Amino acid sequence: MWQLINTTPKTYNTMNQRLQTEEIKKRIAKLPRFKSKCYVCGCKISKRGMTFHHLWYVFNDVVYKNYPKNTSGQLQYYKDLEPLIRESPKRFLYVCNTHHQAIERISRYGDELFKRLLKARKLTRANK
Ligand SMILES: [Zn+2]
Repeated sequence: MWQLINTTPKTYNTMNQRLQTEEIKKRIAKLPRFKSKCYVCGCKISKRGMTFHHLWYVFNDVVYKNYPKNTSGQLQYYKDLEPLIRESPKRFLYVCNTHHQAIERISRYGDELFKRLLKARKLTRANK
């Protein structure tokens, strides 16, 4: 409460937009396909947040890079994305941002390189 009293209207607006964004994400994550948990690790919350990974894109898709990199841009992105996810949930995975970054990174490799990387990882004895 003390924090709210001491914030400027601008800060208050930003906080409110962040809350709205989180509410939209949580609402979409409740769809049966997503079960409100990261597809990779199963976490329900993450320090770095949760997001939706596009498995493939369609014409005129809602794409994050086309939105301003600020709080209101993020809110608008999820507002625009929600109907598309509801229309076709199979195009998306719900993931924590840590694993979203990992998916984006490994998706840059072609099949052959990825196969070799997997083999190298399996050969590496330091793994648990
Ligand atoms: Zn995860």
